[in-house]
Amino acid sequence: MTACATSSVQDHRQAPVDTSSDDFDRWESQVAATGYCHHPVRLAGRIDAIDLATGELRPMYNTDGEPGGTLLVACGNRRESACPPCSKVYKRDARHIVRAGLTGNYATHPAVFATFTAPSFGPVHARRKRGKTVLPCRPRRDTNDRRCPHGRDISCAARHHENDPRLGQPLCPDCYDYPAAVLFNACAGELWRRFTIYLPRHLARLTGIKIGQLRKHLVIRYVKVAEYQARGAVHYHAVIRLDAPGEDYQPPPGHYTADLLCKAITSAAAAVRLVLAPDTGHPAMPALTLCFGVQTDTRPVRHDTTGQALTVAAVSNYIAKYITKTLDVPGLPDHPIRNSASIGRLSCPAHYRQMITTAWQLGAQNATGDSRLRLHAHALGFGGHFLTKSRHYSTTFGERRAVRRDYRRAQRHPDGETDPWGRSLDDTVVLVLKTWTVTGTGYRTMAEADLAMSAAARAREHDEWLSQTYLVRAINSEEE
Ligand SMILES: [Zn+2]
Ligand SMILES: [Zn+2]
Ligand SMILES: [Zn+2]
Repeated sequence: MTACATSSVQDHRQAPVDTSSDDFDRWESQVAATGYCHHPVRLAGRIDAIDLATGELRPMYNTDGEPGGTLLVACGNRRESACPPCSKVYKRDARHIVRAGLTGNYATHPAVFATFTAPSFGPVHARRKRGKTVLPCRPRRDTNDRRCPHGRDISCAARHHENDPRLGQPLCPDCYDYPAAVLFNACAGELWRRFTIYLPRHLARLTGIKIGQLRKHLVIRYVKVAEYQARGAVHYHAVIRLDAPGEDYQPPPGHYTADLLCKAITSAAAAVRLVLAPDTGHPAMPALTLCFGVQTDTRPVRHDTTGQALTVAAVSNYIAKYITKTLDVPGLPDHPIRNSASIGRLSCPAHYRQMITTAWQLGAQNATGDSRLRLHAHALGFGGHFLTKSRHYSTTFGERRAVRRDYRRAQRHPDGETDPWGRSLDDTVVLVLKTWTVTGTGYRTMAEADLAMSAAARAREHDEWLSQTYLVRAINSEEE
């Protein structure tokens, strides 16, 4: 069982849950309710109800009655490397959100899947493919042509394997433009914001109408995710959809096609520029013009499998995969850097350490003075959200969570939930007060983490056994 090693364990002074007591069953059901989260949040607290008519307060629930006085809740981490079970739930929600914006009421609306890359900051080891053949990374033609100003040979004949740790690393670290790489990540959100302003203008220009007219015809809605490339630069993947104005799910007029949208996305992305001028008083801030990479990939989303277009399922799966993926680099910190000395102690590869150092330096008072660069140094300068969407794209994570909460509540109270006076729970009759304190995260001891992970394994086996049983039954009934 390797899962145990990835589980966080804190506060070794406390004893693990007693496996022989009644508490154990309750504890195990709590672990199951978190979806076998690897680092559950431990809460202490109470829920009280106040009768709005009389002002009388009665207790509804208190964690004093729970094993160790603690209620476990799932950490809800998006990252697969941080918590596989919670990441799985997040991935499912993300897939649903994307899908819901491309099917049902939106099934006939023009939609495009687009990828916005970062420009080059210097040559890096890369895995390039033609068909199924992996090509040499940077083949040598003439040695002298392949020397950088620092005298380094910047050719590479290797056909890199997809797990090659050299991928994304610069061939010459002195040539690599670290300030631009970090500032691109830091400003990626602003570049996107400008893109969303330009896109309708470019769409109007391509159609030969004024922007005011365009706004009467359509609104642009999107969902986008950020993904780190191996070189540590952020890419955006977005589903961009055209709707008629209003909230009655109508498509725009027929001449606004997905192909037209592709053209508008490409030209709008190419036009986005962000000029960072060397501000007076910030001598260390480089003069820089930021833009997206040269090639913005656009592909129409279709509901059949013809041609080059992507299917709804493929697009939803891509987005869900990108959102839970992180830069899988050993030694990369997952929390903000506190001081420059701690950067020196990081065990991550030199390339990422240099990005972190650069962000830290650029965030200094005598550089940009922008403390966000220091705050997000551990994230290589990127401080944005990993998933954002325009209003009315489709459903939300909050709505998905509410559905699950209601479902669990209905399971716990099949005859409806009651208040402490025995009446059916009604928020116009009682005020429900919840008071929670976080007492810690993770399991309290190694033994407890072990128990939680073996409970997870048993649940998985049970699930597999169930699905196999159903499969056998299904096969049998087909044969009958
Ligand atoms: Zn979790
Ligand atoms: Zn290489
Ligand atoms: Zn060089």
